[in-house]
This record gives sequence, C-alpha cells and structure tokens, in this order.
Amino acid sequence: MRIVMIGSGYVGLVSGVCFADFGHSVTCVDKDDTKIGALKAGRLPIYEPGLDELVAKNVRNGRLSFTTDLAGPVGEADAVFIAVGTPSRRGDGHADLTFVYAAAREIAHAVRGFTVVVDKSTVPVGTGDEVERIFREESPQADVAVVSNPEFLREGAAITDFKRPDRIVVGFEDERARDVMTEIYRPLYLNSSPLIFTDRRTAELIKYAANAFLAMKITFINEIADLCERVGADVQQVARGIGADNRIGSKFLHAGPGYGGSCFPKDTLALVKTAQDHDSPVRLIEATVAINESRKHAMARRIIRACGGEVRGRTIAVLGLTFKPNTDDMREAPSLTIIQALLDAGVMIRAYDPEGMEQAKPMLPTITFCADPYEAARGAIAIALITEWDEFRALDFARLAEQVADPVFVDLRNVYPHEEIERHGFRYVGIGRRSPQ
Ligand code: NAD
Repeated sequence: MRIVMIGSGYVGLVSGVCFADFGHSVTCVDKDDTKIGALKAGRLPIYEPGLDELVAKNVRNGRLSFTTDLAGPVGEADAVFIAVGTPSRRGDGHADLTFVYAAAREIAHAVRGFTVVVDKSTVPVGTGDEVERIFREESPQADVAVVSNPEFLREGAAITDFKRPDRIVVGFEDERARDVMTEIYRPLYLNSSPLIFTDRRTAELIKYAANAFLAMKITFINEIADLCERVGADVQQVARGIGADNRIGSKFLHAGPGYGGSCFPKDTLALVKTAQDHDSPVRLIEATVAINESRKHAMARRIIRACGGEVRGRTIAVLGLTFKPNTDDMREAPSLTIIQALLDAGVMIRAYDPEGMEQAKPMLPTITFCADPYEAARGAIAIALITEWDEFRALDFARLAEQVADPVFVDLRNVYPHEEIERHGFRYVGIGRRSPQ
C-alpha cells in the first residue's frame, strides 16, 4: 500500500515508520521544515526508544521518505492518514480541530482516484462527518472514504505498542475502506491483534472513553493513597490487592503526583465538553479533571511540608521533569505545576531530567538545569523525585546525602522502600504509605 502520513510528531512518525516496517511504502509529511530537515539528515526531532534505528533501516530500504510537500505523494496514495495535533482550545477546553481541518482541505485538493482518508488524531465525535463535508465542499469530484482509526500507543513504548496493540479500532462508513484498512493492518492481524470494525462515530468515542477511563483509574488510586495516609494503610498493597482481580487489572494503579502528558489532560477535558454539549454530562470525568488538577498543587504543598514549611530562599532539587519516563515530552507534565507552586513559595529549583531538559528550558526559564542528580542536589534542603526514570531507581544515596543539608527525600512515585533511604540519614516521604509530616 502507498501511505501518506500528514503530521510527523510522536504519533505520525512512529505510525509511519512502523507501517514502512510492515512493508508499505510511506511518505511522512510535516509542515515544520526543521522537523523534516532533521529527518532527512538522519536526525530525529523527538526522543522515543528504538525509533532512530527503525527510521534509519526503513529509509535505507527505500520504503520511508520525508517531505514538506503534501500534494505529490497524496495524489499517488491509497491511504492518507491525518496525525496532526488536536490540543485544547484556549478558553473552553474543546479539542482545537484547526490543524485537522486545514490538513483535510489540503488533502482534498491533492487526491487522485479512490483514496481512504484516515483520521488518526484524537478527535471529538462527528469530526469525521465534518472532514467528509470539507471534501464535498473543497473538491466535490474527489472519491474518498473517511475513516476513524484512533491511536492508542504510549510515548516511551510507542513502537512496541504500535506493533503489538491490544486492538486496532477502525470506524468506517464505506465498505471499500474496510478492505484498504484490512490490507494496511494485515501484518498485525496475522499476528492476532484484534481488528475492531465499527462505525465512525463509535470509533471516535472509543478513544476518548479509553483515555478518560484510564485517567479516572489513576485518579481513583491517588484518592485511595490519600485515604491510606489518613488510616495508616499502604496504597501499594491496596493496589496489589485489588489489581489481582482480573475485573480491575493491575495497570494504572500506581499512585503519584497526578496524570499529565499530551493526551489525558486534553482528552478528558474534551470529553467533558462534548458530553455537556450533548446534554449528557460525564460527571465522573468532570470530578477526575478537578481532582487531578488540585492534586498537583497538593504535591507542592507536600514537598514544602516535608521541608518543615520554611522554604523561602531555600533550594529544592527536582529529579525528573517529563510527564513520564522514556520520553522528552513536557506537555502538561505535573512537574510544571509543582515547580511553579514551589517557585511561588520562594524556592530555588535545581533540576535534572535525562531527556526532557531541552523542552523544559523555555517552559521553566528561572530554574537551574543540572548535569546529573548529584549536581541537582547540591545545597538543597530536599530532593523531590517527580518522574520515575530508570536512572533514578539506583541512586547513590551516600553521595546524595553529602550534597544535601538536612536530607529529605520526597518520592512522588513510590520508587523506594523508606528503610533504604532512611539508612542513609534521609527522612522519607512517599505517597499513600505513611502520614506526611
Ligand atoms: P505532535 O504535536 O507531536 O505532532 C503533530 C505534527 O503535525 C507536528 O509536527 C505539526 O507540525 C504537524 N502538522 C500540523 N498541521 C499539519 C499540516 N497541515 N500538514 C502537515 N503537518 C502538520 O502531536 P502528537 O503527539 O503526535 O499527536 C497527534 C495526535 O495523536 C493528537 O490528536 C493526539 O491526541 C493523538 N495521540 C497522541 C498520542 C501521544 O502519545 N502523543 C497517543 C495517541 C494519540
């Protein structure tokens, strides 16, 4: 199949490369010429484990190319995927569909012959209908079938997720699209990943329902963690105890500083807005959004409390800035809110993150970025672990203790057993394990 991927970000690039690896011929398009320039020069614009080798391999074998010019490749394509951003619209939290509609207009003028136009971006119910209308308006003679094929990959494990998905969801209205989509995903289908065919609106809603459910699950365990602290229980044991029940499942039951990232915050908000617009409010998700927002501020207060409350003019070390490990993505990272609240309280921040510092620098212009955890800890009154990168799982606490005046370790990801840290003279504050001071 000849595939064009419009948008070469976290989703578009990974999907495009994986399709090429399945044997399809793929052109990745982006309107950002620095991104395309980098890709053409063999450099990746994002950090994603394993992506560089896979890109290099498929460029070498001639199945993958990059361009800023959409028209040529779209004219030849069997399927054109839209994988552009759908951020929150400023002001009301609705998904901003400007990029999707702009891409649809450009595609409409470039298609030749029957083409399947596949929306991979996360979009509200009815967006496929609107894309179809745009095609009728811009190019009435175009023969296209508009499909919804939401993406469920996770940054940090994107290639494995794409190549071994739990399911592939395809929402279509035109029977011809089903055949093309089956052909595109044949390698996965043969690998026994279930292909769920449904109508387009249902497919669009499946994506939001999935993300909202996961966000709710995280928020649930975070509230249970707070309760654990009050009643003297241990949230990790509770998570284990409930997660062993197959009806609940053990994933997404790690208490922490609240969810963040480029998807959950905007997608929960967009679902809330869609539901309100249709007079069918999703109150569980409204509560989830509110609880998660206040949790990030509560984490800053927890750090301040752990330091005895007097923090103005003092230094706190932050380990981990990205919203989760193995990505450089800083969008909606909880660290941003937590650090801002600490800065507001007069704290000076020294931070280290293995991959996120380039993206973080313009977002956090007043903090000090350090070369490693030990440099970050220098002169600090506390160390706060915000993102559980592997390299923070085996810290040299003897060395850290030398840098810190009155050692306090605030472990917002429950990475460490408290005994291990206390042995080195630190006071330990985790999540949902002991009453915070
Ligand atoms: P991104 O911001 O990393 O990438 C989007 C890219 O699209 C950018 O490079 C931008 O320059 C490009 N673009 C915008 N308009 C264009 C146009 N008209 N022509 C060509 N290129 C254009 O975004 P992302 O994280 O890859 O997310 C894309 C979509 O996938 C979103 O709807 C998101 O919700 C969804 N999604 C993301 C993830 C994730 O983990 N990042 C997972 C599942 C779904």
